[in-house]
Amino acid sequence: MCCHDLHSHSTASDGTLAPAQLIARAQQAGVDVLALTDHDTLDGYAEAARAAAGGPLQLVPGVEVSVTWSAMTIHVLGLNVDPDCEVLQQGLDGLRAFRDWRAEEIARRLEKAGIGGTLQGAAGYRQGRILSRTHFAHYLVEAGRAASVRDVFKHYLVRGKPGFVPGEWAGLDTVIDWILAAGGLPVIAHPARYRLTRSKLSRLVGEFREAGGCGIEVVSGSHSRDETLHMAAVSREHGLLASAGSDYHGPHNTWAELGQLRALPPGCTPVWEADSWPAAA
Ligand code: AMP
Ligand code: MN
Ligand code: MN
Ligand code: MN
Repeated sequence: MCCHDLHSHSTASDGTLAPAQLIARAQQAGVDVLALTDHDTLDGYAEAARAAAGGPLQLVPGVEVSVTWSAMTIHVLGLNVDPDCEVLQQGLDGLRAFRDWRAEEIARRLEKAGIGGTLQGAAGYRQGRILSRTHFAHYLVEAGRAASVRDVFKHYLVRGKPGFVPGEWAGLDTVIDWILAAGGLPVIAHPARYRLTRSKLSRLVGEFREAGGCGIEVVSGSHSRDETLHMAAVSREHGLLASAGSDYHGPHNTWAELGQLRALPPGCTPVWEADSWPAAA
């Protein structure tokens, strides 16, 4: 069976492999169809496409867009987007401007908590245009403030902790409009990670569908087996296409290995059966 991994990161955002290295690793891991979905940027796509050209792996251009919905941050994947779409590019520009301000604000707040130099420290880990909380986490581990990236998030970077800055990303409808303008398929990323109540998840899915969203990540490197089954039921109930992705960030500190994914549960319609899904080369 053909292996789809439709959620991955490179050094263009907070992954640790360059786009070409990611392609090589995906091929070794037996991935047949890979979507590169960096946070709020398509910068890695050109290099990835050059690396994949002429090879067996089908690369799908994608992006993982930061959204503010109901005072929380959620992530919406745009799969098979046109990387040159002006509307999408301009939207992502705005999110990156917020990211730059937020990075300064994270550093100011950490400084107040007695931890200086984190903006420069985090910038030392960035390789593209995106400065992510992951870069802060790598630096804070190096600086001996925590034992692991996971611990940095837990003690410094999440709500209620000294370096937390609330997201002010784009709204759900706006982001779906950008993805649709770029000819892409909007997909709710790792839905179980938001810890929503049943009724709030229904409201999210309802608003998402209403705005033109069409898919949900049922299989994710960060979903347990039970969460996968729950999201499969949500996809069937609401008539959403089902996606699958590892959310790979590199050999370390990752949710799952490339291509090491559970099968979609029965009764789900895979997103790669959508009418607009690109044909294999
Ligand atoms: P940002 O978009 O800059 O706010 O950073 C979000 C990224 O941080 C996610 O995409 C993950 O890669 C990473 N992240 C979030 N929470 C955790 C966690 N608890 N442990 C490790 N990485 C995390
Ligand atoms: Mn990430
Ligand atoms: Mn995400
Ligand atoms: Mn991701």
